[in-house]
Amino acid sequence: MKKTVDKLFNEGILSKQELISLLECNDDVVNEFLRECAVKKRKEVYSNHVYIRGLIEISNICKNDCFYCGIRKSNKNCSRYRLNKSDILSCCETGYKLGFRTFVLQGGEDGYYTDEILIDIISSIKKEYPDCAVTLSLGERTKESYKKLYDAGADRYLLRHETANNEHYSKLHPAELTLRNRMECLRNLKEIGFQTGCGFMVGSPFQTIENIADDLLFIAEFKPHMVGIGPFIPHIDTPFKNEPAGDAELTCKILSIIRLMLPDVLLPATTALGSVEKEGREKGILCGANVVMPNLSPKNVRDKYMLYNNKLSSGAEAAESLNMLKESVKKIGYEVVVSRGDFKTKN
Ligand code: SAH
Repeated sequence: MKKTVDKLFNEGILSKQELISLLECNDDVVNEFLRECAVKKRKEVYSNHVYIRGLIEISNICKNDCFYCGIRKSNKNCSRYRLNKSDILSCCETGYKLGFRTFVLQGGEDGYYTDEILIDIISSIKKEYPDCAVTLSLGERTKESYKKLYDAGADRYLLRHETANNEHYSKLHPAELTLRNRMECLRNLKEIGFQTGCGFMVGSPFQTIENIADDLLFIAEFKPHMVGIGPFIPHIDTPFKNEPAGDAELTCKILSIIRLMLPDVLLPATTALGSVEKEGREKGILCGANVVMPNLSPKNVRDKYMLYNNKLSSGAEAAESLNMLKESVKKIGYEVVVSRGDFKTKN
């Protein structure tokens, strides 16, 4: 199995069967070797630098009804909110002073945010903070809409593909949401010029190891600039309330595999990973992740953007506790840097 890791290190790709064997391997020596290889690759491209992104959760209003998500349309127990332009700009102001040079606007698919409104918000942020990158994570929109947002100055777009398997996709989403459209959106985003991110949850209901291998093969082929990977965590007001959470260790292992497949990828150690495991985000960094996304949302809405239960929201993952984060990152031998933290190619 060590040979398989060597092959992944040298060639950046494995067959589906090799991926499955590696994912299933529970030999500690092999898994530790995989982690060390991922760290080596990561250091070649990004040194020991960790990029931070200020996450602004702009709305928990959503027209979709994804079975796993706590802010799904039919959750009547969710207390809804949305941020307007001035709320968002004041988050950026706070974040800029703290040292953030990327703002991530994430939210449900909320019809309030028309192209016009988003263009105004994005161009205002870029005008006020020309040295900052703007990342959007606002779900599926038309190609024309994505293009307008890009032209307004948005730099990056995160849209997890959620699963590359059609049948699995339909077990996680209502019929009106299709893998086909999700993939079409991802292709459009990349074509327009966004630094584009895909990704999936680890341990989502009905997910098999074979599904994960297919997700990894899709990632290897699509070559996104960013990949968001976190464990699935159940939310009490969703159809998946009784499903078990995804495994932190498997999540970390997948981070290492992705680092070896795409050495220059921007790979966050996610809040979900930090939520299922003590020091989960630090563990993610130690497995090849190079980004963390502290929460910059106004404090009074943070507990409302509840995609899953037990989400970390007030400790070191919060933007105002950046010093704590810097310390914990330093302790494990890495360094939080003040930078836009753009995608780098190795050569
Ligand atoms: N509406 C946007 C943003 C979604 S929230 C979009 O469609 O892209 C960002 C990510 O959170 C989702 O892509 C999903 O992978 C993750 N997520 C949602 N519910 C979750 C849960 N219960 N556990 C873990 N991650 C979850």
